[in-house]
Amino acid sequence: MLNIQLPDGKVLQFQEKKITGLEIAEGISISLAKSALAMEMDGKICDLTTEIDQDSKVKFITVNDELGLEIIRHDTAHILAQAIKELYPSALITIGPVIKDGFYYDISYDQHFSTDDFTAIENKMREIIKRNNGFVRKIVARNEAIKMFESIGENYKVEIIKDLPENEEVSVYYYGEFFDLCRGPHASNTKHLKAFKLMKVAGAYWRGDSNKPMLQRIYGTAWRNNEELEQYLKMIEEAEKRDHRRLGKEMDLFHFQDNAPGTVFWHSKGWQMFQTLVNFIRNKQTESGYIEVSTPELLCRSIWEVSGHWEKFKENMFTAHAIGEEREFAIKPMSCPGAVQIYNHGLTSYRDLPIKMAEFGKVHRFEPSGSLHGLMRVRGFTQDDAHIFCTEEQIQEQSREVCEFALSIYKECGFEDVKIKISDRPDKRIGSDEVWDKSEQALINAVESMGIQYEINKGEGAFYGPKIEFTLTDAIGRDWQIGTLQVDFNLPMRFNALYTGPDGNKHHPIMLHRAILGSLERFIGIMLEHHSGKLPLWLAPTQLVILPVSEQFNDYAIKVMNELKFKGVRAEIDNDNQTLNYRLRKHILAKVLLIVIIGKNEEFNQTVTVRKLGEEKQIVFTVPELILSLEKEIK
Ligand SMILES: [Zn+2]
Ligand SMILES: [Zn+2]
Repeated sequence: MLNIQLPDGKVLQFQEKKITGLEIAEGISISLAKSALAMEMDGKICDLTTEIDQDSKVKFITVNDELGLEIIRHDTAHILAQAIKELYPSALITIGPVIKDGFYYDISYDQHFSTDDFTAIENKMREIIKRNNGFVRKIVARNEAIKMFESIGENYKVEIIKDLPENEEVSVYYYGEFFDLCRGPHASNTKHLKAFKLMKVAGAYWRGDSNKPMLQRIYGTAWRNNEELEQYLKMIEEAEKRDHRRLGKEMDLFHFQDNAPGTVFWHSKGWQMFQTLVNFIRNKQTESGYIEVSTPELLCRSIWEVSGHWEKFKENMFTAHAIGEEREFAIKPMSCPGAVQIYNHGLTSYRDLPIKMAEFGKVHRFEPSGSLHGLMRVRGFTQDDAHIFCTEEQIQEQSREVCEFALSIYKECGFEDVKIKISDRPDKRIGSDEVWDKSEQALINAVESMGIQYEINKGEGAFYGPKIEFTLTDAIGRDWQIGTLQVDFNLPMRFNALYTGPDGNKHHPIMLHRAILGSLERFIGIMLEHHSGKLPLWLAPTQLVILPVSEQFNDYAIKVMNELKFKGVRAEIDNDNQTLNYRLRKHILAKVLLIVIIGKNEEFNQTVTVRKLGEEKQIVFTVPELILSLEKEIK
């Protein structure tokens, strides 16, 4: 007899000696049997057709789970490979993993694929799915598998298998005649594969190595149903329209160059925006009792050895040498070790805590060139970083303060939808359970006391402490993880940071690392896309452009501009020798929020006519009226 325990604790008993997941699901309900794709058996994910021959805990993975959607995508990737082989027999298949929103498959073929081929490939995929052969798993010995793939000339697969240890067994999935090397799991049938689309094709080196052959990577997306697919395609279309790289060009904010990969050239308007954002955060920090510091970008390797970065993070660090200097240096990938140096430069008593030390730290991290993406993924960026040195007892209050601070900033930037996740202790960690208990509870209490919903990320904390993550949802439904608050018991110990307690003894403070916007570069990218370039007035690099209808109104236009500038409005004049319509279009494309038109009537009445971006109607103001309405929005 077999006892099968379900997630709700219920135990089902079966008379059989062996039973498959599918049979159990059928025994529970028809709808479960229909929607189940795989199962978790005693914590291990496997196919529904896996036979269970001992008492087990079983959890079904259905189409409605995130993991279920990943299985759908993985199944679709296999079908893509099979379709390629049937249409282009001389093509070789390599690897085909699941990625965010879809999958890809890397293919070696001597002719170039283009999107023109996609319809034929998709049709073939549908034809294969209709055969409904079902995925069948087979375990074979390593050497057997090498022979199997050698016999069909799939040399890339052979190379992958040859990297495995001698006595290893591998799993191969059959779909009809076609077979592919794969760990699984796969759904037992293909009826769930009804909403997919091939998206693009790009080059990719075999094993990411530029000395190895270039392959063709076909990307696809797959969803549970056509509504989800349509929604996704619409989101992609919308995202392309508001791509920050395009907006950056149209608004003349920044550019990138091949000879400075992953680092930004800020043009004057972009830098204006950057500085506005810095000052916005800086003012709020000052109001909240932060001090601001600046620590070196170039530090001796010895500092990074003490902090542990040299051991754990070396692959991501840029190092530096100089002729005539023996010591090795590294460009900082984070500002924390520098902050501790400042903390240590004096004697601290418990009465001085918390010390809230902010820094707009410019950091550099090596990222593979293929992963760089406009402002969203760069190698050099500026964090709105702060380190709060405090006692254990102060963690809760300080965390609450940071949460409030973060939420108010997100709101002013136009994000109302914020998700909070708390990551708790991982298996590998330092610090006593008592300290972990206290600090995890402090974070939970901080968030709960604000009446905010949150999720727990089990075991996802760093080895040196739990953390809170803030994720924003943008205007087209994409999630961006932005801010973090990280409790750290480790770094103050490594650098021997101390304070004198009420007991007269020395103690290590707790360090809270917090960043609200994270990377300012990335946040500007997110802001541009979220607002589709139509930024909040306070952040817009040019708030207003004045267009005199013709030359004869220049004097009045300049007078108006000077009055606005005097009041702190970022105003410009465009009296170029072009038609009014041409100039209007130009500034609308550059997303200027307010366009002021000045002609005969305006000069005579000492007024201005204002046109807001995206609105047809024009409003007439006197200059003081305009200033008053702007001041309200900018402040
Ligand atoms: Zn597979
Ligand atoms: Zn830090």
